[in-house]
Amino acid sequence: MIRVGVLGAGGRMGGEVCRAVDAADDLALVAAVDLDHAGEEAPGARIASSIDELVGADVAVDFTHPSSVLANARWCLEHGVHAVVGTTGITPGSLDELGRLAASSRANCVVAPNFALGAVLLMRFAEEAARYFDAAEVIELHHDGKVDAPSGTAIATARAIGEAREGAWSPPEAIGEHAGARGVDVDGVRVHAVRLPGLVAHQEVLFGAAGQVLSLRHDALDRAAFIPGVLLAIRSVAQRPGLTVGLGALLD
Ligand code: NAD
Repeated sequence: MIRVGVLGAGGRMGGEVCRAVDAADDLALVAAVDLDHAGEEAPGARIASSIDELVGADVAVDFTHPSSVLANARWCLEHGVHAVVGTTGITPGSLDELGRLAASSRANCVVAPNFALGAVLLMRFAEEAARYFDAAEVIELHHDGKVDAPSGTAIATARAIGEAREGAWSPPEAIGEHAGARGVDVDGVRVHAVRLPGLVAHQEVLFGAAGQVLSLRHDALDRAAFIPGVLLAIRSVAQRPGLTVGLGALLD
């Protein structure tokens, strides 16, 4: 039985993870932690406010906030608790630090900006297409509660395209006073972030060449899309020494 603690248990994703862990025969929900929801009931556990509740857990799952995630993961690695991190907005510098901490800890760390299988496949297909199409732009669309932008998935996708393509494509500069109209540049790929109530998590990658456009799109219509990937990470993190980045590494 794997003993699991959930950080951010009172939130949208954390609540779903608590429910799934509680329902799995090989997992036990031993701690539910949330700074703003202490005392409330999560599916399978009462929510506490202190991360110290994770002492005794084998694996901690983090779906909190970009400002909290690094300190939480540090705590886990220093206390010998494997960390499965779904929270997005982690900077490359923070990833480096997690890599160093995980290398010297008896606990391991899995960080995945997107636990949905379809989104991981979209990234792979985009990497493949980028070998043939230099011109590409990424559009990510999320619910209005998402605080980081562009999404971690969009940044990872743009970086993968940037690395895979043969030559950098330079789109025309926008003329006029609306400076953000062309999105942001991530490794030479323009990324556009849409925030609207009603959306969950969606991404489209558009590739253009003379006379043709290829569009790849993934829609997570429900947070249930992320749960199989999170459970896979919980079950496999103990066998992945150090830091693992991306669900794709676990699928292989
Ligand atoms: P949410 O706002 O609904 O929930 C976050 C919860 O974390 C809140 O209840 C908040 O009180 C709590 N929290 C914040 N700091 C904390 C701390 N230090 N300790 C304990 N609890 C803390 O957000 P959400 O929609 O559930 O998303 C959470 C994160 O997960 C975001 O970064 C989001 O982008 C990311 N996300 C990732 C995936 C993925 O597949 N990797 C999927 C969906 C969302």
